[in-house]
Amino acid sequence: MNYLNERINQIIGWVRSQIIIESKHIDNIFYAPCDYKGIGHEAPADGWKPQTTREDLQDNIPAGGSKTRFGEYHAWFKAEVTIPENMKGKHVELCVRSMRMANPQYIVYLDGKTMQGVDSNHESFPIDSNKDSYELTVYGFSGRPADLFLNAELQLIDTDSRNLYYDLRVPFEVMGYLPFEGKEYCEIRTALNNAINCLDLRDRGSEEYSESVKAAIENLRTEFYEKKCGEQMANVVCIGHSHIDTAWLWPFRQTEEKCQRTFSTAVNMMKEYPEYKFITSQPQQFKYIKELEPELYDEIQAMVKSGNWEIEGAMWVEPDCNLSSGESLCRQLLHGKRFMKEEFGVDSKILWLPDVFGYSAALPQILQKAGVTRFVTSKISWNETNTLPCDVFMWQGIDGTEILSYFLTAQDYDPREKLRNGTTYNGNISARQIRGTWERFQQKELSNEVINTFGFGDGGGGPTREMMEVGRRLEKGIPGCPTVTFEKAGDFLDRMEESVKDNRFTPKWVGELYLEYHRGTYTSIAKNKRNNRKSEFLYENTEATSVMANVLADVEYPKAMLSDGWEKICLNQFHDVIPGSSIKEVYDDSDIIYADIMGKANAAKSAAETAIAAKITTDGGLLVFNPNSFEASGLVDTEKGKVWVEGIPAKGYKVVALPEVCGCVKVCEECRMIENAFITVKFDENWNIASIWDKKAEREVVKAGEVGNRLTAYEDIPRNWDAWEITNYYTEKSWNLDEVTAVRVIRNGEIAGFEIERPFQKSKVVQKITLDAHTAKIDFDTFIDWKNDHILLKTAFPTEITSDKATYDIQYGSVERPTHYNTSWEQAKFEVCAHKYADLSEYNYGVAIMNDCKYGHDIHGGVIRLTLLKSATHPNPAADKEEHNFVYSLVPHTGDYRQAGIVKEAYLLNNPMTAQTIGAQQGTLADSYSLVSVDRDNVYVEAIKEAEDSDAIIVRLYDAYNTTAKVNVTFGFDVAKVEYASILEEAQEEIAVADNKVALTVKPFEIVTLKVTRK
Ligand SMILES: [Zn+2]
Repeated sequence: MNYLNERINQIIGWVRSQIIIESKHIDNIFYAPCDYKGIGHEAPADGWKPQTTREDLQDNIPAGGSKTRFGEYHAWFKAEVTIPENMKGKHVELCVRSMRMANPQYIVYLDGKTMQGVDSNHESFPIDSNKDSYELTVYGFSGRPADLFLNAELQLIDTDSRNLYYDLRVPFEVMGYLPFEGKEYCEIRTALNNAINCLDLRDRGSEEYSESVKAAIENLRTEFYEKKCGEQMANVVCIGHSHIDTAWLWPFRQTEEKCQRTFSTAVNMMKEYPEYKFITSQPQQFKYIKELEPELYDEIQAMVKSGNWEIEGAMWVEPDCNLSSGESLCRQLLHGKRFMKEEFGVDSKILWLPDVFGYSAALPQILQKAGVTRFVTSKISWNETNTLPCDVFMWQGIDGTEILSYFLTAQDYDPREKLRNGTTYNGNISARQIRGTWERFQQKELSNEVINTFGFGDGGGGPTREMMEVGRRLEKGIPGCPTVTFEKAGDFLDRMEESVKDNRFTPKWVGELYLEYHRGTYTSIAKNKRNNRKSEFLYENTEATSVMANVLADVEYPKAMLSDGWEKICLNQFHDVIPGSSIKEVYDDSDIIYADIMGKANAAKSAAETAIAAKITTDGGLLVFNPNSFEASGLVDTEKGKVWVEGIPAKGYKVVALPEVCGCVKVCEECRMIENAFITVKFDENWNIASIWDKKAEREVVKAGEVGNRLTAYEDIPRNWDAWEITNYYTEKSWNLDEVTAVRVIRNGEIAGFEIERPFQKSKVVQKITLDAHTAKIDFDTFIDWKNDHILLKTAFPTEITSDKATYDIQYGSVERPTHYNTSWEQAKFEVCAHKYADLSEYNYGVAIMNDCKYGHDIHGGVIRLTLLKSATHPNPAADKEEHNFVYSLVPHTGDYRQAGIVKEAYLLNNPMTAQTIGAQQGTLADSYSLVSVDRDNVYVEAIKEAEDSDAIIVRLYDAYNTTAKVNVTFGFDVAKVEYASILEEAQEEIAVADNKVALTVKPFEIVTLKVTRK
């Protein structure tokens, strides 16, 4: 047994200890407490005090911003730094100490110029030692004031020792996992041992030592790196990255600082390492930099031009893709790609979502129609049950569109262990991880290249110099480890595209990329789910109404306000905000943002409606606006309560006579029954629904022996990631909310039923369960005052329907999912996401559930469940312990969801018509109008807006039934030209217009965008 490997290890340590030749501490530091610094880096003119002790800082630096549980303390520091004579002209580094993983973090300026961020991974950087002195200014952030204490020094570096250290260490690490005493192992060991035999360690720091270091480097270069290294089994493309969550365990404004620090570090490192490439997404973060650090922004623009900085990702932020609506995803791309193009001249082609909690099957089409052809993530590797069998594949969406998709495969290699499912987007350049990234890749027959995104995220500052130094050695191709190259993700994907094209081994994944994890994010923080849904509809409605007011009453279209509002909706869809996984402060901020944008949109919409109303010629009555794209009949609120109006034109208005209230819904308290012409609903002694009798179909809806709308509180103590998770054992312990404290008969115009109040410990649920006279729909208008935590609240409707699949509304279409647990893949889908409705149908009969702001569903074995609340305590102890208002509805129906018009009903629930009384008046407008209409039930128009760059009108419609249909689209204004357009509003093929009408063929689940030029 020889111990040469241990000798090598010992001597690597000795060489490392020789890297810093001398340190000079920086004294006479002054500090000035501050709040968030705002724009630029102007340190305050006065208020400076000498920095003495940590205790002094602890006592004298007040909290800034709103103090989060992590604290938000800031201070400026300054000092005069003189370069000692013996360091002049040599390699000198400025080292600013950080203490712990998270804090403190600094931005360092020399002579007023941004140098780089400092955190525990990035403490030193080279400076020009030819100058006599610098004015050092530092802006610091920390969670505790004492931690801000600035501890800085100048270091004289022995670059030869440093180079030798990495030359030795990297092959030594490769040896670490190679088969002991195998050929490659022995070759490396011999080479390293020979090299260290060149070293003279007797008088370290001496001339002899320095010469021997040079000799050892030269020996390694000629005998090892040149002779033994070269092309290896595979290539790992390394691109620097720092995944910065736009808000999470910190508020948005701290993200602004994280970006300043991380991005300035990246720029500074690019100057040192010309081969270094760095990829960033999320234009929102660039917008922060543009505003707050304009000089840094200019440097980033230059680095994008030089090819070092890759701007990709296509969307405004990295949004949640379960909850965001179809139109929201379009706006993410519209805002994201426009910014990248305008600011950086980049046409982003990659949807870069490494950390998002599942990917809707609507995405491939939406991406392709926005000119995005590739998709990259790693999150599906977090699946707790199944491993997806492919890492590169064509991903096919609901309409058949296919997108090249790639999963990051970075994980550390350990030959003694089986490969794991989990991979990381916070990668590292180490021998183990470079090998592991390749080993974990499942499509080796398609490509011998994989990608590794290396760098610390979330304020860890991104890639380090150490990673670059290791990468430089691995670039040479060390035996036993894949070769490293530094390239852009786009270039790598260009080659991957060539490899998979027309290759019979290329896998295809059809349908959603469901994440078998984080299922609680469909429900956590209910208020944000509600604000999101309401904002999405409000902004679409305000756009359409503003176009209408422009067409009919010449009211100026509020383009800037609407664009800004959508940007904020997109921001709040960030993948830790809308999922409910952030701290309380983030939701305090998003409350303010939503209130602001909803206030502005409501005012604009109301002004538009008022301007239109003023011009209508009418004998008076009820002016009803219908924001939906079909001629609608339904309930509106009036002074008489809810009344039924009929035949209101699509995306238009009509003046109708104020309808009479028929009072046709029978309510009987003694017999616990509500009844209309369509159904009879009977309640049991606990006021749960014992029976729903469908009079037309002559059948019972509620499963025999069961009850409907039973509210159940499940113990919700997930195995980890509290706010994110529902673990499938949640069903083990539960309590039915069968107790009733009050029942009242209620009538509101056309609707009638019962108001039922139930306690649950200190919480309270009040439901208005009502029917109207015109449909078989049962509404559950719900108020909850919630005070519990670690409870998952669900409602359940056991039905008599037998079907092995259910249909769930998603973005611009729907998906079917199994209703059984046959395989592990189906078992994993015990909770799924749907938007406005879900439907369980057998041949010719079914039951739909609709909601106005809920997303978590599960339909299994004939039982339809909707998840109403999840009240986690981490990371937000206050989560969901507040008042909630929402509506869900149950609709028994003949036919399937299409024949029963469930999509329309779901739109009406979410996007109700509105009414106002109007007196007799003379004007220029008719008393009935439709802005845009279609003549097919399966086609729905969502967006009607003015184009971002012109006064053309953008109309977006889609097929909701998975069918091909010829459809006529009629415009309520004079049309000069209609063209197909991309989601980015670029005109494509022209369509013939006749009588302000176009005829289109819309394919299954197809999204069609039209660019309409007015006469
Ligand atoms: Zn993230």
